[in-house]
Amino acid sequence: LDQARAEQRIVVRDLSIGTPMLDRLTLTRELPAAIANGEMFLQYQPKVHVRRQEINSAEALVRWQHPRHGLIMPGDFITLAEEARQIADLTYWTLNQVIADQRLLSADGRDLTIFINISGQLLGDARFVEEACRTITTSGAKIGFEITETAVIRDPQSAIANLRRFADVGIAIAIDDYGAGLSSLAYLKQLPARELKIDKMFVLQLTSSNRDPLIVRSTIDLAHALDMEVTAEGVETQAAMALLTVMGCDIVQGYLISRPISIDAFRAFMNDQKLQFDHDARDMFKRP
Ligand code: C2E
Ligand code: MG
Ligand code: MG
Ligand code: MG
Repeated sequence: LDQARAEQRIVVRDLSIGTPMLDRLTLTRELPAAIANGEMFLQYQPKVHVRRQEINSAEALVRWQHPRHGLIMPGDFITLAEEARQIADLTYWTLNQVIADQRLLSADGRDLTIFINISGQLLGDARFVEEACRTITTSGAKIGFEITETAVIRDPQSAIANLRRFADVGIAIAIDDYGAGLSSLAYLKQLPARELKIDKMFVLQLTSSNRDPLIVRSTIDLAHALDMEVTAEGVETQAAMALLTVMGCDIVQGYLISRPISIDAFRAFMNDQKLQFDHDARDMFKRP
């Protein structure tokens, strides 16, 4: 048993520093069954609208509870899923799960947009685009898509056309990981996005570096000039929160508010959160 545990630990450790070839192949082979067998699950992370002092959206993040390797994080299997052409199936699963979970939230009286991460590969997949639009329209769920600019730059024409198609059926579009990948202001202004998410690498060091505050502030100003709201992801400290508030950041997301949590924990969090905001909102969002 100890031997087995040691092996598991090694495998999990290897995964995080670059999946070895054998495990990549095994995981890739196991992906379709994993989706069918219910090994995937979602966690939700709230996004707080600063001025409105409320949680008005959440991000769904997928995890793989592997029977032998234990918990595998998306950083270790999304690329595999893309390479194996499994990402569409995984995203259909995610979308349907989010729609089901959003029904629970609606029953609790919550009115939240739930954001799903959409792989760049799917922006050029006409079947996915039609299927996703149909599923979301039929369900009436308030869904958002988080996409990176890098995904758009691969094939800008079709990506922009498909993003417009998503926006036309009421899907909220957010640009994810802004500043971390390829970026083009020429495309940025053409995207039907209402939200720009600053990558957490700039936010995590906001109060400990000289340059990151300048980068974050100018990104906020740029986004506002383009009529977008700005989200900071990776908000871990009260100090970062205070600075972002002064800079006019619209939405915050990070461990300070909540880690990604199960749907049940998220529903409980929303119930508690209401009370907490009533008591602490002034402190939490106070300008220093
Ligand atoms: P992302 O969309 O940029 O998601 C944000 C990541 O930052 C998440 O990691 C989240 O857990 C983490 N995070 C949130 N707040 C904090 C914080 O305060 N501090 C720190 N240090 N980290 C924070 P996660 O869940 O491991 O997801 C990693 C990436 O995997 C995501 O980055 C997204 O690109 C991708 N991903 C997750 N779920 C899906 C999915 O369903 N489909 C696709 N295509 N990609 C997904
Ligand atoms: Mg995201
Ligand atoms: Mg992000
Ligand atoms: Mg990221």
